[in-house]
Amino acid sequence: MSRLVMKFGGTSVGDVERIARVARIVAAERQPGRGLAVVVSAMSGETDRLVGLARAAAGEGGNGPVLGGADFNDEYDVVVSTGEQVTTGLLALALRRLGIPARSWQNWQIPVRTDAAHAKARVAEIADEDIGASIDAGIVAIVPGFQGITEGERITTLGRGGSDTSAVALAAALKAERCDIYTDVDGVYTTDPRIVAKARRLEKISYEEMLEMASLGAKVLQTRSVELAFAKGVPVRVLSSFVEPGAPNPGTLVCPEDEIVEKQVVSGVAYSRDEAKVTLLGVEDHPGVAADIFGVLSDANVNVDMIVQAEARQPGRQNIVFTCPDREATRAVEAMGAVRDRIGVEDIHVRRDVAKVSVIGIGMKSQVGVARTMFQALAQKGVNIEAIATSEIKISVLIDAAYTELAVRALHTAYGLDAA
Ligand code: ASP
Ligand code: MG
Repeated sequence: MSRLVMKFGGTSVGDVERIARVARIVAAERQPGRGLAVVVSAMSGETDRLVGLARAAAGEGGNGPVLGGADFNDEYDVVVSTGEQVTTGLLALALRRLGIPARSWQNWQIPVRTDAAHAKARVAEIADEDIGASIDAGIVAIVPGFQGITEGERITTLGRGGSDTSAVALAAALKAERCDIYTDVDGVYTTDPRIVAKARRLEKISYEEMLEMASLGAKVLQTRSVELAFAKGVPVRVLSSFVEPGAPNPGTLVCPEDEIVEKQVVSGVAYSRDEAKVTLLGVEDHPGVAADIFGVLSDANVNVDMIVQAEARQPGRQNIVFTCPDREATRAVEAMGAVRDRIGVEDIHVRRDVAKVSVIGIGMKSQVGVARTMFQALAQKGVNIEAIATSEIKISVLIDAAYTELAVRALHTAYGLDAA
């Protein structure tokens, strides 16, 4: 007996016609000896609508993190979780119309247990016995994504985009052979096809590479779902829900590194325009300063990304450059301004029109000259590099945002990623 988990996002179940198509895609995956569980999102736009209702009802309390904090978020979860419940019933009906045995499973019926962090809960445990037996008996299970229940039987949600994580968690619990995530793109690309017409769909990508791509804004899968798939060893396939049911639809397989035979030095080029660069000039140089500065930023809820530290001209002083999401730049500068005299910072500068461009590839681990290729390609186009950060499988540069597209195209070509 094998098991497959399939997941359909909001646009894929956007109306009743699309749900009928999803039913046909599910039907095409039915095989003797294979149990199917389908995780669904709310119909597109529905979660936003429900969030709006909850905010309106909460009044003043609707303005805080999600809704004014713990006092409101449990009922926020009650409201916003309903979108997915509707989709489960509609898909079960559409499958039965095709003569396929199917039933919806709400999270309390399985159950899917989460912690009690309302609006951002984490899945703790999924009981696989009942739902597993049911799918093994040939009844397709339809499960609402993005939610669960606490030990105290309260409804929780996992945070926006959370149904990818629900699907992977269910696949892990059911020991499914794979988790197929159907979406509005037909796979993971070497870069954004809107920028590079010659971008190619990747056959396979490792979990690590996908995590780097996802966190850099290639928003195909929720980052948390990839982390979970990596941790539990669940192969995940990203594929299109708009291909005719039964037609070829290979998508991209996200899998362990050792299943990728031909390791590319660089598998993809990612970019993010949502970046700001903050420069702290003439910072006093003694142990504890960095801990102090980044402690202050962390308390101010600033998500720091790149950090560069270098000696300043004056003795006993250093310059520190860091980047953060653009929308957090004002908060970062205010937080630093407030402690400037205490910590000993001569000047604070901020630049908001910067972008981060990164090349990602597991092949980098064992290859030399990868950075040189990147810097040469950028130099040839006259693109200036403002900061550099590296990891084992990624090199990122910070550049003037006006050159983002130029840089992405140049790097895509330089690493031989252009489609023939
Ligand atoms: N419907 C939820 C949202 O829009 C969860 C999801 O679609 O992944 O955030
Ligand atoms: Mg999504």
